[in-house]
Amino acid sequence: MTQTLLEMAKELVAEQIRQYHVSSDEAQILLRNTHATLQTLHHMEMSGSHAMNGTPSEEEQSEGWRKSISKYAIRCMECGNTFKQLSTRHLRIHDLDARGYRAKYGIPRTQALSSLTATARRRELAKQIRPWEKAASIRGVAKTKAKASAKK
Ligand SMILES: [Zn+2]
Repeated sequence: MTQTLLEMAKELVAEQIRQYHVSSDEAQILLRNTHATLQTLHHMEMSGSHAMNGTPSEEEQSEGWRKSISKYAIRCMECGNTFKQLSTRHLRIHDLDARGYRAKYGIPRTQALSSLTATARRRELAKQIRPWEKAASIRGVAKTKAKASAKK
């Protein structure tokens, strides 16, 4: 969606450059402004269509966060940006933390705020790097090192 808006903005600005011979600095500002305007218009359009269809049902709202988490990305429900995982640092921008974010969108506490693959990978890593096994392997390395130096 953003891509399309950006494309539109680019085209509009390109048109201006062709017609009015805008400098590249001016074009940058123009592009930014055009994009912002298009985004605002788009948001207005979206909220307008929402109003026409009535408010989303409870079910649709609870489905919202499910849709925000996909295999490779999680979409921030506040700003629509996508991440591999939704960090506390990012949520702070919206005056939220993970707990507040979950509460706001009805996300269960057990749901990790990261893409499905990131969550799976973390689980896999946690399984692989068990603290006691790690300690054992470190001891193993130390032993081999000791042997190696003994040979010398
Ligand atoms: Zn955000």
